[in-house]
Amino acid sequence: MATTTNTKSFSNYINGKWSPSESSEVIQSTNPAKPDEVVGTVPSSTKGDLEEAVQAAKAGQQKWKKLSGAERGNVLFKAAEVLEKNLEEVAETMTREMGKTLPEAKGETARGVAILRYYAGEGMRSDGDVIPSTDPSALMFSKRVPLGVVGVITPWNFPVAIPIWKMAPALIYGNSVVIKPASEGAVTAAKVIECFDKAGFPEGVVNLVTGKGSVIGQGLAEHKDVAALTFTGSNATGTHIGQTVAARGGKYQLEMGGKNPLIVAEDCDIDLAVDAAISGGLKSTGQKCTCSSRVIIQEGIYDKFKQKLLEKVGEITVGDGLEEHTWMGPCATKEQYDSVQKYIEIGQQEGAELIYGGKTVSSENNGYYVEPAIFDQVESTMKIAQEEIFGPVLALMKVKTVEEAINLANDVDYGLSASIFAKNIDHILDFIEDVDAGLVRINSETAGVELQAPFGGMKASSSYSREQGQAAKEFFTTFKTVFIKR
Ligand code: NAD
Repeated sequence: MATTTNTKSFSNYINGKWSPSESSEVIQSTNPAKPDEVVGTVPSSTKGDLEEAVQAAKAGQQKWKKLSGAERGNVLFKAAEVLEKNLEEVAETMTREMGKTLPEAKGETARGVAILRYYAGEGMRSDGDVIPSTDPSALMFSKRVPLGVVGVITPWNFPVAIPIWKMAPALIYGNSVVIKPASEGAVTAAKVIECFDKAGFPEGVVNLVTGKGSVIGQGLAEHKDVAALTFTGSNATGTHIGQTVAARGGKYQLEMGGKNPLIVAEDCDIDLAVDAAISGGLKSTGQKCTCSSRVIIQEGIYDKFKQKLLEKVGEITVGDGLEEHTWMGPCATKEQYDSVQKYIEIGQQEGAELIYGGKTVSSENNGYYVEPAIFDQVESTMKIAQEEIFGPVLALMKVKTVEEAINLANDVDYGLSASIFAKNIDHILDFIEDVDAGLVRINSETAGVELQAPFGGMKASSSYSREQGQAAKEFFTTFKTVFIKR
């Protein structure tokens, strides 16, 4: 029997109001630490609901774009203030909905606040260039202008930060948004929209429509009035969405999966490298797109690194993310848990040696817990070395040289983040130059990037556009080139 402590039922948010869906069907979000506990519900919306939201966004954008950047920025500053006031509650909902530990959830929400403030300030910065004309009696300049309605499709693993790092730049540059969050994180995303509601965005500027990816996500990708679509999620969904938007001539941005390598060179500080493998690979239960999943180690320190890693991983406590002693929460959903178990089985069938963990952690409430898993003797051809697992699984691989390590790092379809732990400057410079990754990190874990810097991947990880920092401007605006003849 499902329990309903602190359950919150949300409707869609359209044209500045919480609006019931045409459909009476709802999607239930449950707690992965206690699958019987319902965290909340959101509507399984219809194409009709989406149409209403897109038309509201279209009308709302016409007025929003006429405000000055400073006026738009003030609303974003207010949204940051409201979110900050509600940080504890939003973070707790996140932990209950997708299992991330409470300190991580608070950190993510605080990041959402900082992103809102960063882009609020953007409203006062330059939005064009004066370009010298060859005609002495003319003035020529470029001016950035909004695109119109932006569709936002987000995954469940960062249910606060990703919606905000897409919506905040879209909004400050004068676009309106229709967001469809992943159903597994939709209650948390709706709580963010609740804060936006209190911040006082004008009607139609921010719209939330929840529902199935195949209905609402697909509908956003196909809609001719959605000028641009920004997507974060899996490679399979992203590739399909990119093709759908391209077919109608829309603008799109895709940030997708990773299979991120961490190289451990012989001369590195081994304790720091071990900490980075643990933190970058296993925090958030390995469910970050930038998580380290392949640890490529030079043979001279392989055994020592392995021994220290095994000592450290043994200290990890698995449990409900709301409990203080928990270092690693459950997998976010039953599907994730099953998928991690499947890969642990595949790894063993392929001949890799499971040297630590990988078993289910049983609990009173039947949470989706799994021990962190470490595989030894991993070959690059194995599925566990090639496919994104999105779970707490580390694959150890042995190499002779740093050059071989870089080649191995590049031997996957993905190219999101990559780290090296080394002191030799030649090895570091070779790594920076040769590794196929959008995020290149030296003596630092693969996970994480500062919000004021460009974020995104190469190869199958991205459509090569970048998010965050000033890079976001490129996606969320276009130019008018103005020529004025005296
Ligand atoms: P997913 O692709 O299953 O879903 C992402 C979103 O797409 C959800 O909102 C979903 O409802 C929607 N969707 C599903 N089918 C659709 C369709 N046919 N048309 C339109 N939309 C559709 O991904 P997920 O499981 O939510 O998230 C995990 C994935 O996200 C991992 O691969 C991870 O690496 C990736 N991710 C990437 C980044 C990054 O910035 N590169 C960040 C976080 C997560």
